[in-house]
Amino acid sequence: MGRLAGKVAVVTAAAQGIGRATAQALAREGATVHATDINLEKLNELKDTKGLTVSKLDVTNKEEVTKFLAGIPKIDILFNCAGFVFNGTVLDTEEKDFDFSFNLNVKSMFFLAKAVLPKMLEQNSGSIINMSSVASSIKGPPNRCLYSTTKAAVIGFTKAVAGDFVSKGIRCNAICPGTIDTPSLHQRMEATGDKEQAMKSFLARQPSGRLGTPEEVANTVVFLASDESSFITGSEIKVDGGWAN
Ligand code: NAD
Repeated sequence: MGRLAGKVAVVTAAAQGIGRATAQALAREGATVHATDINLEKLNELKDTKGLTVSKLDVTNKEEVTKFLAGIPKIDILFNCAGFVFNGTVLDTEEKDFDFSFNLNVKSMFFLAKAVLPKMLEQNSGSIINMSSVASSIKGPPNRCLYSTTKAAVIGFTKAVAGDFVSKGIRCNAICPGTIDTPSLHQRMEATGDKEQAMKSFLARQPSGRLGTPEEVANTVVFLASDESSFITGSEIKVDGGWAN
C-alpha cells in the first residue's frame, strides 16, 4: 500500500517542474490527486496518470479558488506550489511587479489555505506544504529582491498557520529548494543572453556540483504530506544540495 493511500491532495502549478513531479509522486504513493495549473494544455499531459485528475485553476483568482475547492469534500494535503521569479534589485522593481509577485507567490496561498482549513478542521487532520525558497529569509542571492521578499513572507505565513492550528491536528510546513532544474530555470538562463555562462554560474554556487531535480523536491513534499512527518510543523525545510549551509 502506498504511503498516502486514502488521502486526497490538491497541488497548484502542477503542469511542469516541481509541481508536476510532486503531483505524480503523490499519486504514485496512493493519494487521490487534484492537479491544477493555469496551463491546461500542458497539464493535460498528466491526465492519464492513475489516481490523478487535472483542472484549470488560476490561484490568483479568489472566486475560482473558492469554487474549485468547495467542489472537493475532503482534502488532506494541500501543496501550494505556484510562484514566479522576478529578476532584479529593489531599484529594478516597480509597484506593479511587487503586486503581481505578492498576488501569485503569497496571496494565493492565503486564498487556498482559507478555503481548505475548514475541511481539515472538520476532520481534525491535514498537511499544508507551502513553496518557499532558499532565496527568502534564509539567503539573499543577487537580483532576487522581490522574489526573496515574497518567499520570506511564505515562511512567516507558514509558521503562523502552523501555530494557530497545531492543536487541531493540522500541520503546515514550508519547503525551501535551492536551484532546481525546471523549465522556468532554463527560461531564466536563456533570458540572460548567455545560457551557457548562466548555467556555469548556477553550478559554481552548488557545493554538490549539480542542480537539484524536481523529483528530489517532490520526495520531500511526499514526506511532509505523509504521517511519517507527524511531529513536524512550522518548519522550513531546505532542499538545496548544501547551497545555503
Ligand atoms: P515553473 O516555474 O517551471 O512552472 C510554474 C508553473 O506555475 C507553470 O506550470 C505555470 O503555468 C504555473 N502558474 C503560473 N501562474 C499561475 C497561476 N496564476 N495559477 C496557477 N498556476 C500558475 O516551476 P518550478 O520552477 O518548478 O517552480 C515551482 C515553484 O517552486 C515556484 O513557487 C518557485 O518559486 C519555486 N522554486 C523553484 C526553484 C527552482 O529552482 N526551480 C527554486 C526554489 C523555489
